[in-house]
Amino acid sequence: MDLFEHQAKELFAEHGVPVPAGKIATTPEEARAIATGFAAAGTSRVVVKAQVKAGGRGKAGGVKVADSPEETEERARQILGMDIKGHTVHKVLVEEASAIAQEYYFSFLLDRANRTFLAICSAEGGMEIEEVAAANPDAVAQVPVSALTGVNRDKARGIVTAAGLPEAAKEGAARLVERLWAVFVSEDATLVEVNPLILTARGQVKALDGKVTLDGNAGFRRPGHAALEDEASADPLEARAREKNLNYVKLDGSVGVIGNGAGLVMSTLDVVAYAGEEFGGQKPANFLDIGGGASAEVMANGMEIVLGDPAVKSVFINVFGGITSGDAVANGIVQAVKLLGERGETVDRPIVVRLDGNNAEEGRRILDEAAIPVIEQVETMDEAARRAAELASAGV
Ligand code: GDP
Ligand code: MN
Repeated sequence: MDLFEHQAKELFAEHGVPVPAGKIATTPEEARAIATGFAAAGTSRVVVKAQVKAGGRGKAGGVKVADSPEETEERARQILGMDIKGHTVHKVLVEEASAIAQEYYFSFLLDRANRTFLAICSAEGGMEIEEVAAANPDAVAQVPVSALTGVNRDKARGIVTAAGLPEAAKEGAARLVERLWAVFVSEDATLVEVNPLILTARGQVKALDGKVTLDGNAGFRRPGHAALEDEASADPLEARAREKNLNYVKLDGSVGVIGNGAGLVMSTLDVVAYAGEEFGGQKPANFLDIGGGASAEVMANGMEIVLGDPAVKSVFINVFGGITSGDAVANGIVQAVKLLGERGETVDRPIVVRLDGNNAEEGRRILDEAAIPVIEQVETMDEAARRAAELASAGV
């Protein structure tokens, strides 16, 4: 789960990482009131920052300085509602402006390829680190971090020294990096990124921006993280699927996909996309892994979610019987159609079923016998994908 900048900074502050003071506004008037508060406390210059989960907000016009409460309101009015890389701005962070002397880059991340954690640091911050690395690889220090020993002050000094940060910033940056490691570990993050990390005109080191990715697999031991979820922009189908404990990811095609086992479903997506090229570019509409059991209820829930997507014009149910036998799956599908009928959801789009593996023959017989008009069976995965794509193109 990716966090908004303001959420990242709240976590930073909890762990002692210095950040500018700031508050969230959802209306221009609220932004003005926040600026009035800062002005009363002696800070008249603020920054109004679009809160969207995308980088490059500055370049897109989503980060603006204001010198009075009136100007803050005006800036917030410009930024709220703006579209940045496909994300609509619903809230802005109104922050005390910082006088920037220098901008650096810092991040901790999980380096999967090398099975370790990695610190990346550069004295050239503010711009995309990929660009810096491409133009001047020597300017980017990459320091592996052992999960066993972690980052203490000495290790942090080593990292910022390797990056060539100036003397004036080193001690403050090392302290910040040590605190940032505490964020990374104690929040179960897979990424914490600060770009820019700044040295202010008064010699302080602060995190001016923040990007945090939390490890969803650690959610069970971080109950507080659920509250950080962005419900406003969550996909409603994905939210409903989560309530039903289904592994569902919405995609933007027209062929609904249901399968058992993540590997099989992933390859089904590929096969559907490939077969779909022949039919005007039909693509998979979703990923849905119903797992091992494939009970009637799980199948019905899955079909309900997939058919709940109006973009779905056909459904491809691809099941390979392993521990679950083909007859159980077939019965599941038949009962699921009934169950959906009872819930008042008529199954009105064509469904292509491919059953293989353990007891598949009996499963096919059950489906044939049930003679459900919207269901047709195809024996191979490739042919079934092709048929589903064809039906989708006919239904569009
Ligand atoms: P991003 O473009 O989405 O990465 O947003 P950032 O939070 O990194 O802000 C972009 C740029 O705006 C920074 O690199 C700074 O140059 C500038 N900026 C942001 N906050 C301040 C501030 O308080 N004072 C000044 N002078 N510039 C700022
Ligand atoms: Mn940034």
